[in-house]
Amino acid sequence: MKESRVIWFNGEFMPWEQAQMHPISQALHYGLAPFEGIRFYHTDRGPAIFRLRKHLKRLLYSAKVVRMEIQYSLEELVEIIKELIRRNSMEGGYIRPCFFYGGETIGLEVRDSVIEGVIAVLPWPNPSREFLRVKTSPYRRLDPRSIDINAKISGHYVNSFSTLHEAKESGFEDAILLDQDGYVAEASVENIFAVKGGVVYTPKLGSILPGITRDTLIIVARDIEFQVEEKDLRIQFFREADEVFVCGTAMKILAVGEIDGVAIGNRRPGKVTRRLAQLYKDIVEGRDGRYIRWLTFVN
Ligand code: PMP
Repeated sequence: MKESRVIWFNGEFMPWEQAQMHPISQALHYGLAPFEGIRFYHTDRGPAIFRLRKHLKRLLYSAKVVRMEIQYSLEELVEIIKELIRRNSMEGGYIRPCFFYGGETIGLEVRDSVIEGVIAVLPWPNPSREFLRVKTSPYRRLDPRSIDINAKISGHYVNSFSTLHEAKESGFEDAILLDQDGYVAEASVENIFAVKGGVVYTPKLGSILPGITRDTLIIVARDIEFQVEEKDLRIQFFREADEVFVCGTAMKILAVGEIDGVAIGNRRPGKVTRRLAQLYKDIVEGRDGRYIRWLTFVN
């Protein structure tokens, strides 16, 4: 795979093929790698990164969870990412920073471990479907009493992987994970919303990844005077909703047309879903001046 010409690895910009790591690394063996998924978009003023600092704060938080002190400040990471996009001459795409314990160490002690870091920019296709057919997953979302669910760390993704693949093997496109108490948590790698009687609902924080798209939509929906409720919700509530959609950086906003074979509305994206998706598109592409503070222009 050669997605971008230039990759940033351990402090240097280099050709994609030159970035190499040793297979004896704690990150590979124990999943100790905080990472992020960020998008940048083509705008009238050139490429702009959406909510970059918020993503980097989550990255630094995730690093703390695995006792990792990233050697770069948030502002240094901002500059590295901007430079990487410029060097790849890309107008839009996906940014994947990932820091990890490398350096040929084994065991769970990390005091003397080498911290390595990579940042890649990749093309990421837009979802091709108009709506998703999902099922309730037989897996549960990771229990926040077992791990810090607020962190985005590679090891946590076995849960998302198992969820997605079990759903696909059963003929669905994604699945909804319930939390340890049986309330709806999220989809494999997206947060979830329902619209019922004109009110927007989403599971409260605690058993979900605090998604930045979720946070964006809550703010934007309240700004256009929707009532937004963050609370514990059962799967039945979603099956009976007027509209359901999932959201995340990669997927953006995508309607859920069916849950466990039960149609939601007429399966097609509903009015509120379409309105929020359009607003989101205008915001990330720099056409909505009210939220220009969320964009980091590359040039
Ligand atoms: N939940 C999980 C488990 C995820 O991996 C993601 C993607 N980062 C999300 C939700 C959505 O988060 P965001 O909007 O920050 O991309």
